[in-house]
Amino acid sequence: MAMPKRTEMARTFAVSSQKGGVGKTTTASNLAAVWSEAGVRVLAVDFDPQFALTRSLGWAPSDAPATAVDVIAGHSELGAAAVNVRAGLDLLCGHRDLAKLELTLVAQTKREEFLARALKDSLFDYDVIIVDCPPNLGLLTVNALFAAREVLVPVSMLDAGAYQGAGEVRATIARLRDQDVDVRVSAVVRTLGDRRRVSYQVIDTALDQLGLPVAETVIPLRAEFNNALTEGRPVVWHRPDSTGACAYRKLAQEIDSGVPMLRAVA
Ligand code: ADP
Ligand code: MG
Repeated sequence: MAMPKRTEMARTFAVSSQKGGVGKTTTASNLAAVWSEAGVRVLAVDFDPQFALTRSLGWAPSDAPATAVDVIAGHSELGAAAVNVRAGLDLLCGHRDLAKLELTLVAQTKREEFLARALKDSLFDYDVIIVDCPPNLGLLTVNALFAAREVLVPVSMLDAGAYQGAGEVRATIARLRDQDVDVRVSAVVRTLGDRRRVSYQVIDTALDQLGLPVAETVIPLRAEFNNALTEGRPVVWHRPDSTGACAYRKLAQEIDSGVPMLRAVA
């Protein structure tokens, strides 16, 4: 049976930081999984040439009828390209040729608007669209920031340099806002968190200076995340009762409830 058309537009998220290994893909896949289990209709978009989100949801680009590359190039409709991962969760697969595509976009007019245009007709088919970005602030990421209203910025609590990644995203978003693009950081998400480490305290203090809302939920540093990745499943499906899974469910609730649970902006 066809799902009824919704009357509200999807909430659109980009998960971005120009730092690699900070938990962007893990955050995108687990939030997508949590929301879809709660009956929210989710589209996950893998916009990284390394297509880790695709793999983390158990898919390969070659198994999909078409990928993000075909959709952005205008060779496929989103509806024909997206694969159904589980009930309520569709995935637009990434592909390594996204890197080549990014180079061709540079010469185009309105080069930052390709993803937004590709998603436009599907905004009423989903409750949430979440885009996983590559670890840089190139044109793929700018397309994702342009397409999204809200940005989630994971910061690894293991890497004292990683919070700078959040600062760079903030600057890029500020530039887009100057062009009247309606996008904001809805939360910095502290990932790979282990409060006993010195780096945790250092980064936590530095985040206060950033002037961005910080999610109260900390995603803990846990071995189950790597086990889940090996299995091609988000941790919330692989080990639903684990500490890591509980943290992502709590984060999803926090994002659902909006700003009040977020740490005050400095
Ligand atoms: P990014 O997309 O920012 O490059 P990933 O989400 O791919 O980062 O995570 C990088 C690596 O860290 C992966 O091997 C992932 O399994 C692992 N990882 C992510 N979050 C956690 C966590 N909370 N605890 C332990 N390992 C994690
Ligand atoms: Mg990634």
